[in-house]
This record gives sequence, structure tokens and C-alpha cells, in this order.
Amino acid sequence: MKVRFWGVRGSIPSPITPDEIRRKIASVVQRVRPEDLESPTNRERFLASLPPWLFGTYGGNSACIEARLDDNSCIILDAGSGIRELAAAVARETRPVTEFHVFVTHFHYDHLQGLPFFTPGYNPSTRITFYSPIEGFDQIILDHMKPPYFPVTMRDTMGSSCRFVLLENEPVRIGSGVVSWRRHKHPGGAVAYRVSEGDRAFIFSTDTELEESDFQKTEENSAFFGGVELIILDAQYTLGEAIDKYDWGHSSFSLGVDFVTAWNIDRMYMYHHDPLYDDRRLYKNLQSARWYARNLGNTELEVYLSEEGLEVEL
Ligand SMILES: [Zn+2]
Ligand SMILES: [Zn+2]
Repeated sequence: MKVRFWGVRGSIPSPITPDEIRRKIASVVQRVRPEDLESPTNRERFLASLPPWLFGTYGGNSACIEARLDDNSCIILDAGSGIRELAAAVARETRPVTEFHVFVTHFHYDHLQGLPFFTPGYNPSTRITFYSPIEGFDQIILDHMKPPYFPVTMRDTMGSSCRFVLLENEPVRIGSGVVSWRRHKHPGGAVAYRVSEGDRAFIFSTDTELEESDFQKTEENSAFFGGVELIILDAQYTLGEAIDKYDWGHSSFSLGVDFVTAWNIDRMYMYHHDPLYDDRRLYKNLQSARWYARNLGNTELEVYLSEEGLEVEL
């Protein structure tokens, strides 16, 4: 399967600012030497030598992850503003998929606000199935899109395309894959999802304030966190911020490293980037997380920043 990152920001979409673009350009101009401009090869080499926070951006859209299974089933995890980019990419496919399975972690704006711009939903031949373990969630989703907050209602414009499935404790089968879920600590509640296909699996665990019970090696936890190749994990805060913002429902990247170390997961993608942080600051947090993992003696762990447009093959 392919895991695609369409929205990686937390709390609110946070597009790159004009000032940040100016600073990036100024910084590139200061680094360039005359010989870097001499030939197309030199120019390419120069661009490739720039640090990732400078040449590009980690992205500004809010939460949306896609798992495209080997049989082309399309699983969408959260419908933040990144889902608009997902829709545009689907429209460019030779044979665009028309069936979508949308799993919602919870209903905060940053995880739902892209839905009115999910253009396939306006096509009556599209089928969208929403999943959540929250009783009455169909009303929550249908009611979030209506005047005066949006010009049209979801019921009138997308209603015929939508179906709602209340998740029970058992995992649900989607095409060639299986999705299971687990509750975690977040104001108002939220869930993590585990998507597996064959012997490959990953977890999407955003908006979680990691706590003692997440580390416990119970049968239930082991079934969820065990045997996973990759986790996309809430790592919004530094340790200091996590202490200041206790009970806000997010985790520090260092506790995230402790957590993936405890569960023996080899790859961690820091997620739900704070709207206050620019690309340079996010990269600094990444370096701190990598330093912390090495200091912990976990030399196997690969830590990355979630980045809009990134595609990972599992
Ligand atoms: Zn959020
Ligand atoms: Zn939230």
C-alpha cells in the first residue's frame, strides 16, 4: 500500500507566510557562489545541497492522510483542508476512484474543515462511507456543513453519496485491507486508526496526549501497537510546551520517541505541526527528536517530519 500525506498541520491550516518566503530566498541568495550558477548541473547540485527546511516547505494544510491499498481501495484518515489536494490528485488519475472510505479521528475543525471542498462528493455516482465509533456521528458530520457557515447543506448536495458506519470493537475490512481503532486521551475524545494489508501495517495517531495506559503491554494494546512498521504520531510540542499545555490533548516529540521505542516501531513521522512553527523551527524539532532517540540508545529508530505531498510505500 501507499501512504500519502495531504495535510500535516494541526489546529488550523498554516500556509507559509510572505515573510518566510522572503527569508528563504534571502538565505539561498546568500549561500550561492558564482560557480554554483555556471551550468545546469551545478545549479541542480546547489539546489540539492540546500537543507530541506530551506528548499521547500513542510506544508500548510490541516490533517488528511490517505492509504491507497494494493487493490486501489482508497482509505482517507481525517478530512482536514488537505483533502482538497487529495481530490485534485484523484481527478488527475487515468481512472479516478469513485469510492472513498473516510475514517474520522474526531470532529475538531482541523480534521473536518476540508469536507465541503471534497469535490467528488458532489458527483452523485461517488460513494463515500464515513466511519467512527461515536454514536450519532452521522448527524455531527451532516450538520457541520450548512448555512450560515457554508452556502449549501451537506444533506442536499452530498447526502446521496454518503453512508455512515458506526464502528464496533471488531476491525472492519476494506478491500484488501483491515482497519481497527483505539481510543486515546484528547479533549472530547479521539481515536487512532491502524491500517493493515497483508503483513504490513501503519498507525495514524493524531491528537493524542500520550499517557501511562498507552505504554502498558496489555493484550489489547499489543494487538493494536504490535507489528507496525510506521506510525504517524502527534508530536506537536516540545517537552516544555507539553508541561505548560497539560490536558490540551497533544504530545511532545520526546514522549513520542519514548512511546515508539516502547512499542518497537522503527519509523515515526512527527505530525500535527504547531501553527506557530515555521519550516526551520520544525526541522530543529526533528533534529532534537533524532538526538533524543540516539541518546536513549534507540539507534534503529528513523524519525521524520510529516510533509505535505510525501508518499511512503509500505
Ligand atoms: Zn487537531
Ligand atoms: Zn483535536
